[in-house]
This record gives sequence, structure tokens and C-alpha cells, in this order.
Amino acid sequence: MRTRLDGPPGGERRKVAVLGATGAVGQAFIRLLENHPWFELAEIAASERSAGKPYAEAARWIGGDAMPSRVAGMTVRACDPAEITSGIVFSALDSATAATAEPAFARAGKTVLTNAKNFRMEPDVPLVIAEVNPDHLDVISAQRKARGWDGAIVANGNCSAIVTALPLAPIHQTFGITKLVVATMQAISGAGYPGVASLDILGNVIPYIGDEEPKIEGEVRKFLGTCDRDSVHSADFPVSAHANRVPVEHGHTVVMSIGLSRHARPDEVIDAIADWRGAEIARGLPTAPERPLEVSASPDQPQPRRQVDRGGGMTVTVGRVRPDPIFDVKLVAMGHNVIRGAAGASVLNAELMARRGLLDGL
Ligand code: NAP
Repeated sequence: MRTRLDGPPGGERRKVAVLGATGAVGQAFIRLLENHPWFELAEIAASERSAGKPYAEAARWIGGDAMPSRVAGMTVRACDPAEITSGIVFSALDSATAATAEPAFARAGKTVLTNAKNFRMEPDVPLVIAEVNPDHLDVISAQRKARGWDGAIVANGNCSAIVTALPLAPIHQTFGITKLVVATMQAISGAGYPGVASLDILGNVIPYIGDEEPKIEGEVRKFLGTCDRDSVHSADFPVSAHANRVPVEHGHTVVMSIGLSRHARPDEVIDAIADWRGAEIARGLPTAPERPLEVSASPDQPQPRRQVDRGGGMTVTVGRVRPDPIFDVKLVAMGHNVIRGAAGASVLNAELMARRGLLDGL
């Protein structure tokens, strides 16, 4: 995944902290930040239940790999700005905690890259996919001014919203989207750890994920919206989402029917997706995949088991692009919910901010 190993902008690795470091997304942050060329994982924090313990004791490591030995011995801190010296803070907190903790960190001058839902839809909070809408970071100055913060909050999308918005970006840029129906089949790891009870999900499908459908409907439009210096304006097309939990470990699959301003044949849509490399400024960043999108020609793909780790978990695979008798075109997309849908997307956003000089002095 690391395509560029040149040094960090400004010369030195910047110290970073992870809040919620013991959870499913927190653990993904630890994997991505261990040996990161631009950032040094300096501090980890979680709830009062974990604070004061060595990480190895506080976290139930859920990957098949070994916990990095340096991190295993680090002491978990409380999620209190007074305990964290790093200027860059990745947040994998649950939303109940994020509501007060993240503004407290921003007020204390930290740049918070959050995975929680709380601030995503605020017009002065950038909700960013590095390859899709890097210009939305421009609202940070207005956010600081309006809220009186020295720091800032930059949000990552909901995991399904990210997997949905990535293939829609080149389609919207090329043909214009007029309406969208999307149905998700979401992996268990999207519910965190311990997440969904095994007796509820084994051999089963749960056609409900609390609060998920409005998040997808709102966030996809915000990603594809426009930005002036004061606020982000969501794209103006209706979205209807259905969210389902399925017995898959990692990888959210989304099926979409898309209405277009300019009608396009499936082969034209495939070309638009296959040719797309995303915004120039995001290319070659350490966590950026060679290709944010790949198109599979197999009639039975994408599948989580086959493609979830493409591009180090940062590539979304698209397939089954075909005519839609009601809309214009329909397709299937699949991406890693914990990497592209959470920790990897945040790390990529931080790299983008570093490249743009938005982390200078931190
Ligand atoms: P998780 O596995 O339940 O982890 C939650 C983390 O928050 C743990 O580190 C926990 O620490 C900490 N925490 C809980 N209560 C706290 C408190 N009162 N004070 C400080 N820390 C507290 O959840 P997750 O799946 O990693 O999700 C983290 C966030 O990312 C959520 O907002 C979620 O909606 C979002 N997200 C998740 C995914 C995904 O695919 N999983 C994708 C996109 C976004 P302890 O271990 O000490 O309790």
C-alpha cells in the first residue's frame, strides 16, 4: 500500500494519539500507524476501564496478526486533553463519548480526525474522502472562527457511505447523478467489538442497523457536494438507503441503482470508474492505494472474501455494472469497512492535511 517512502512534509515524523485505541477501529489505527513514515504513534487512550493499564492488558486484540510489541507495553491514558501532548488526534470513540470529548480536544488546539457520527453533517465540519473532496478541508478556518477553537474536527464518513460515495464520485463528475437507491450488506466488524451477538448473526440476516440509513442518505450527498470557504453544500439529489447486517467478517457490499442527468451505457460508466484516479493532491500519499477503484469483469464479483484486502484494504471493487430498467444503471461495490471505511480513511485524510500544510506546527 505504501507507494511513496519519501520523508514526511517538514522533515520530522509528527506525534499522534489514538482515542478509543482498544476498539475495532482503534486496533486498525494501531496497525496503520505502527511504522508509518510520516506519523509516530506516541499516545493511546480509551475509557476509564482501560486507563492506566498496559495496552496488552486493556485491549482484546482481534486480528490474526500479533499486537505490535512496542504498543503492547504502552500505558493507556484517559481521553482527556490534559493527558495527551500530541497535536494530531485520531478518534475511534463511540458517539456517546465523542460528543463531548472531541470538541474538548479541538478547543485544546488539537486536530481531531474522527470516525464518530456526531459532527459529520455540520456544514462547517469537513467530511472528507481524500480522493473525492479534498477541497472541503477549506472550511476549517470558518469552523475555527465560528467555534472559537484553535484546533479542528475533520470527519470521516460512515463506513457504508464511504464505500458508496467512492464509485459514485466519477459517475457524478462525468454524468451527473439525479437519484440513488442503495442497499447494503454490512459486515459484523462494522458493529465494533464485541458487536453483534453470534446467535443473532450466524446463518442470519438482520434487516436493520440503528441510525444507518439516514447517515448513508445524508453523507453520500455531502461527500459529492460543493464547498465555499464558510460551509459545505450537499449535492441535490434524493437518496434512499436500506441497511442490512450479514454474517461476513470484514467488507461492506453495497448494491446501487443510479439515475443520471446524462444517460450513459454501462460500458461508459465502467470507463469512467476504471479511468478515475481521484484528486491529484491525494495521489502517492503513503496510505493511498494505487487505484481507489477497481472494476471486476467477473459476473459474480465483487465478493468480500475475494477483494476485501485490495490496495491494503483501501481499494473499493466495483462489478456487475448493467442497465437499470427503472433508473439508468445499477452496480455492486465492496470495500473494507474498518480500513477504507474508518481508520485507513482517517490516516489518509491526515496525510492529505500534512501535504496541504494544514498540520504545520503540530
Ligand atoms: P468499539 O470496538 O466499540 O470501540 C469503542 C472504543 O471507545 C473503545 O476503545 C472504548 O474503550 C472507547 N470508549 C468507550 N466508552 C468510552 C468512554 N466513556 N470514554 C473513553 N473511551 C471510551 O467501536 P468501533 O467499531 O471501534 O467504532 C469506533 C467509532 O468508529 C464509532 O463511533 C463507530 O461508529 C465508528 N466507525 C466504526 C466503523 C467500523 O467498521 N467498526 C466504521 C466507521 C466508523 P474501552 O475498551 O476502554 O471500553
